[in-house]
Amino acid sequence: MLMRFLIFITMLLFSITAIGQHCSTDQVHADKIESDPTFKENRKRIKKALLLSRNKEQRGDTIIIPVVFHIYHNGDPLGEQENITDDLVQAQVEQLNKDFRRNNGDASMTPSAFEPLAADTDIEFCLASVDPNGEETTGILRNHINTLSGVDESDCWTTNYIDDNFVKPTIWDREDYLNIYSILSVDNLENGNCDFFASLGYAQFPGGDASTDAVILSFYTIGSEVMPNPLQPQFIGRTATHEVGHWLDLEHPWGSNPGSCNLDDDVADTPTQLEGVFGCSSFPLFDNCTTSGDGIMYNNFMQYSDDDCMNMFTTGQRSRMRNLISVVRPTLLVSLCQAEVLSIESIVGFNARLVGSDIIVDWTIENKDDISHVQLEHGTSITQFSDIAYVDIEPFSSASNYNHIHKNPSSGIHYYRLRFYGTNNKVTYSDVISVVKSSQQIVVRANPVYQELEIKIPSDIIVDSYTIFDTSGRELLGGKYLESNQSIEVGGLNGGVYIIHLSTNRGSTLIKWVKV
Ligand SMILES: [Zn+2]
Repeated sequence: MLMRFLIFITMLLFSITAIGQHCSTDQVHADKIESDPTFKENRKRIKKALLLSRNKEQRGDTIIIPVVFHIYHNGDPLGEQENITDDLVQAQVEQLNKDFRRNNGDASMTPSAFEPLAADTDIEFCLASVDPNGEETTGILRNHINTLSGVDESDCWTTNYIDDNFVKPTIWDREDYLNIYSILSVDNLENGNCDFFASLGYAQFPGGDASTDAVILSFYTIGSEVMPNPLQPQFIGRTATHEVGHWLDLEHPWGSNPGSCNLDDDVADTPTQLEGVFGCSSFPLFDNCTTSGDGIMYNNFMQYSDDDCMNMFTTGQRSRMRNLISVVRPTLLVSLCQAEVLSIESIVGFNARLVGSDIIVDWTIENKDDISHVQLEHGTSITQFSDIAYVDIEPFSSASNYNHIHKNPSSGIHYYRLRFYGTNNKVTYSDVISVVKSSQQIVVRANPVYQELEIKIPSDIIVDSYTIFDTSGRELLGGKYLESNQSIEVGGLNGGVYIIHLSTNRGSTLIKWVKV
C-alpha cells in the first residue's frame, strides 16, 4: 500500500505524460481477441455492419448517453487523492460534451488545414439520474476498495485484474449506461515485475463481453479545461474523451498495430500514420506514412498527444461513432438522461400467460396523465432485460388495454417488466412477472371433443383452477384443481368452438378446442 503511494508521490514531481504513459486499449483488445473467440467474430460482424451502413443517412438528432461514474478510493477523505469530488466528475462530463460537440475552448488551436474536417459529433453525455432498479441516482457511485472482494493495494492492478475485480462485480447494464471507472492506477505486469501507474486508462471496443464493457480511467487524468486535475494539472479530461472514442469504436489513427502504413483506422479523413506521437507537435508534422501535404493529424483526440495539444474529432470519426451506436448500441438511443423517477399508481393487471407455444403479455393502464410511452422488456434472467415492444400512449385518455404476443419463445423461465416513460422525462418500472414455458405443454387430447374433455398435464405443472368460455367470452364451466390426465364432463355443451383457461403454478394458459 505504501509502495504504490510512494511511487505516485515521486511521479507527482514529474509530468506523468513525460514518462510516456498512454492508453492500454490496443493491448487489452489484443488479449481479449485472443482469449474470446466470440469477441473476434463480433468484431468481424460489426466491421461488416458498419461498412454496410456507412453510406446510409444517419439520424440527424443529438444522441445523449447516460453515464454512471464508479469512483473507487482507499479511504482518503473526500476530495483528496483518488477520492475525487463530484465537482471534478461533473467537470469531466462537461468536457466530454465540449469535446464531442466541438465546443471545446481550444477548438481554435486546430490547424486551419484540418479545420474543414473537424466535426461536431452531436453526441452528448449526462450523469444518469435513474439506476437499473428505477431508483433515483446522482450517477456517481463512491465506494471503498475494501468493498470489493479480492482487491488488495499491493497487488499488480493489470487490466485483467481491474476487469475481474472492479468492473465485473459492479457494472451497470451496458444497454442503458456508459460505465466509467475512476481507479487508483492501471498497472502492467512484465516478467514478474509490476509497473505501477503504467497506463492512463483503457476501454473495451464494441462487441466484447457485457460484463467488462466499460471505460477505465486513472483518477489523475480526470478533469476539464476549466477544472484541470488538481494533482496533475496537465490533464484536462482528454483521457476520457479518447477512451470513450474507443468505446464507440474509434481506433488510433495508426490502426491497431503500429509500424505499418497499410494498417489504418478505417476512417478516411484521418491521414495514415505510422505510430503514436507524444507530447505537443506543431503543424505540419510528417512521418514515414504521410510525407507531404498537411502531414499527420497529431491534434486528433485519438492520438497520444498531450491533453492540451489534442482538440478535434473528424467528420469520418463522427459517422463511425454514430453508425456504431445505431448498429451496436441502439438501446442507448432511448436515453435515461435527465430522467426522474415517475410515480404512478395507474397500472393494473399486468399478466403474462402461455397460449399455445406463444406467451401473451397484457396490461392495463388507468391513469395516463403522465405517461408518454411504455416499453415491454423481456429477460431469461431476472437481472438482464432487453426491449421487445414499444407502445406510444396517448396521454389524458381513458383506461386502455395493451398486449404483446411473444412469438414462440424457447422453453424455460421468461421474465417481463414494463418501463414507463413520463411526459416529463420521468422513468419507472413495473414489478417483474414471470412465466415458465415447459418443454412439455398442457394439451387437449382427442380434439374435437364429444363427451369428455381430456387434459394432459406435464408432471411439473400443477393446475389450480380452470374455466371454460365460449368465443364470446361467456363463462360456462369451471372448477378447482385438475389432476394429470383428468377429464371434464362437457356433454351438456352445444357443438362449437370453446376456450379453456388454465391457471397453473407456472402462469396461465388458454387452449382452444372444438365440441362436436
Ligand atoms: Zn487509445
